[in-house]
Amino acid sequence: MFRRIVPAFVFCLLTVVSIAQLKSPEEFLGYKIGTHFTPHWKLVDYFKSVAAAVPSMVKLEQYGQTNEGRPLIVAFVSNEAHISNLENIRQHNLSIARQGNPINGSYDYPAIVWLSYNVHGNEASSSEASMLTLFALVDPKNTQTKPWLKNTLVVIDPCLNPDGRDRYVNWFNSIVGKAPNPSIMAREHEEPWPGGRTNHYNFDLNRDWAWQTQVESQARVALFNSWLPQVHVDFHEQGINAPYYFAPAAQPYHEVITKWQRDFQNTIGRNNAKYFDENGWLFFTKEEFDLTYPAYGDTYPLYNGAIGMTYEQGGHSRGGLAVETASGDTLTLVDRAMHHYTTSLSTIEVSSQNAPKLLSEFKKFYDDAVSTGVGSYKSYVIKYTVNDAEKIQNLLKLLDRNKIQYGTAKAVASLKGYRYDTRKEEPFSVASNDIVIPSLQPKSALVKVLFEPTTLLVDTLAYDITAWSLPYAFGLNAYATSQRLDVNGTVPTVAINNTPQEAYAYVINWNGMQSVKLVAQLLQKGIRVRYNERPFEANGKAFDRGAILILKTSNQHTANLWKMVTDLANNLSVQVTPVTSGFVDKGYDFGSSKVHPMKARKIAMLTGEEVSSNSAGEIWYYFDQLVNYPITLINARNALTMNWSDFDVVILPDGNYRFLNDKSATEQFRNWINHGGHVIATGSAVAKLAQLDWGLRSKKEETADTSDLYASLKKFEERDRDFIPSSIPGAIFRVELDNTNPLAFGYPDHYYTLKLDDDVYEFIKDGGWNVGVLKKDKAVAGFVGSKVKNRFQDGLLFGVQEMGNGTITYLADDVLFRSFWENGKLMFANAVFLVGQ
Ligand SMILES: [Zn+2]
Repeated sequence: MFRRIVPAFVFCLLTVVSIAQLKSPEEFLGYKIGTHFTPHWKLVDYFKSVAAAVPSMVKLEQYGQTNEGRPLIVAFVSNEAHISNLENIRQHNLSIARQGNPINGSYDYPAIVWLSYNVHGNEASSSEASMLTLFALVDPKNTQTKPWLKNTLVVIDPCLNPDGRDRYVNWFNSIVGKAPNPSIMAREHEEPWPGGRTNHYNFDLNRDWAWQTQVESQARVALFNSWLPQVHVDFHEQGINAPYYFAPAAQPYHEVITKWQRDFQNTIGRNNAKYFDENGWLFFTKEEFDLTYPAYGDTYPLYNGAIGMTYEQGGHSRGGLAVETASGDTLTLVDRAMHHYTTSLSTIEVSSQNAPKLLSEFKKFYDDAVSTGVGSYKSYVIKYTVNDAEKIQNLLKLLDRNKIQYGTAKAVASLKGYRYDTRKEEPFSVASNDIVIPSLQPKSALVKVLFEPTTLLVDTLAYDITAWSLPYAFGLNAYATSQRLDVNGTVPTVAINNTPQEAYAYVINWNGMQSVKLVAQLLQKGIRVRYNERPFEANGKAFDRGAILILKTSNQHTANLWKMVTDLANNLSVQVTPVTSGFVDKGYDFGSSKVHPMKARKIAMLTGEEVSSNSAGEIWYYFDQLVNYPITLINARNALTMNWSDFDVVILPDGNYRFLNDKSATEQFRNWINHGGHVIATGSAVAKLAQLDWGLRSKKEETADTSDLYASLKKFEERDRDFIPSSIPGAIFRVELDNTNPLAFGYPDHYYTLKLDDDVYEFIKDGGWNVGVLKKDKAVAGFVGSKVKNRFQDGLLFGVQEMGNGTITYLADDVLFRSFWENGKLMFANAVFLVGQ
């Protein structure tokens, strides 16, 4: 007995000893950091090995999982006292952020520094640096870092985008030779489509912090909001010819960013500069990377009370292991990782030096938020209507994810406020089922940024869109008022519980994505459905255009039809209404030609090299994750030879399609449309089709104003700003809708579009429908350059052209933008499921 136990015991002990031995990244990996790209699983293994070796200083937590099943992890790193007191520290930190009860007892609470590496997968040096940072903090021989951990808790997220990183790293490792080739012409410096920047569905996770449409952001921002650090760094890479960028950031800064937040960026920048100076490394500050759009890894933390920053190393995507830059130097991954490692430690150091001030200013940020609030509006009111109920629910989910407080209102008979729809101060009343979002609350700054009707920009050199106000993005009737309104309580959730009963037909309102999902499931189960193109009343109830009918007579083959329909509808919280007769009280009867059968359409989308990966990703995500309806993704190069008739609908995302340069391929495409094919084109695909002279024309360039001869005498040093008068970095416009057209079913007579370019089209004269048009002076929010302003009137943005038995739906703007432009999703469904049926 004894003899058998001993070897097992010894083996166990050896295993424990071998796991528990602290190793440097080089010892663990077998290579020096930067001489190979480390795949994500190995990166995770290294973090696990360090956590196992120094459990008193490192606690690992898996906070989520990517679409492809990779773990998302963070390491909490500090001294033994803090690591054994983590939950207490978290609770205390939330309490000073006015989001929890004060903690009893005295304790010297540390400042929290959060380091986020590799959000863009092909900016791959930072995850390598994360291993050096972790080791430097726990290495007993490193005496420099230990004092910092007395008053600092470091949170290391070694890779925010593991799927994107591995897409890049696995590709690179699969094509590099024995030694890297620094020639920029070598294939290892040119990633294949779609590149590793984005996540599985080609979403840019550094545009998703506030919206959290993607699983990675949902998991990460939930964790972030349960801690709320005082300092946050988002590590990136820029082009290979740029050196290193760190804080302070460039103008414009959003006005909610406090003086302290601005000043401390400077303090951190100077500390980073000290180390770069010592090493003779190049860097720049205060240029390019602005602080406005709320879904970045620097602005979102700033709007949540932290010092949020972006650090950018040269080397993005094309850097490989070594690359020759324009200046003739060879930039290596070793250098890139060392630079990120250096700023990581420098940031922890300067945060530790200022830890008490960081904590007191953080507390002040939240104290001010609840006592005075940020901005002049004190309450935002969302008017409740039954038809908007689903959109309101989606808005509330977004607020929940951001820990923004809201509630139902106490009725107020009359007050004044800014009405988003008219862009004017108007009298209005508040009803008890309206939603109130108070400005005075812990997340006051974020509330202002997300709800303010227009964003004040002190400069227009913004890096991303300049307008995102949520009432427009969600298409909701809302007011902003300077009056403080009482919040009455939680918003009740309405449970939908349909019970099956015999009927002539069931009717479903077509007014949001839940009804789209239900119809998508019914079609896939072979249930025959129809839609009514006119409003009607049946059994005393009114239904709007696009109402879906499920007739008993068309579905005799389906056993337990009504039970199946009600079960599916209950799962999706969709109200279904049984009606007992096809004779309607008002409108057209169910047998009318105004009631159209809906085919379960076979859908394809062109994708690949010729297509914008973001645009293709949004549409893929829409079908795969939101609607749950099959779609075939086809490489655009195969459009030259594809059999179009295999599909009913072909989607052309934003892209530049080569097959449309080929006469015979274009002819085949046109033939298929004439025989009943349906095309949905978005973004520049619309521009490409407009060149074919099939009926759509691009609105001509406004002729330049020649009255000012001296206008061309521009200053050399102001050349960076030359593009501003012709730029439109993302602004909101009001579009007038013909909501009697199936493309606009479920909408009021207008829609707010996010315009990302200056493409506008002439009204379609014949053979088509101008469904969404710009009239005069419809810019609502965001920056529009003076030279392009005039284009945005009397033009078409959304239209349907009829060709033979088929149609082309033109969506000049991106109605699925980053999947957060909630109000566009139904329009895309209309194009897919209704137009041309
Ligand atoms: Zn980046």
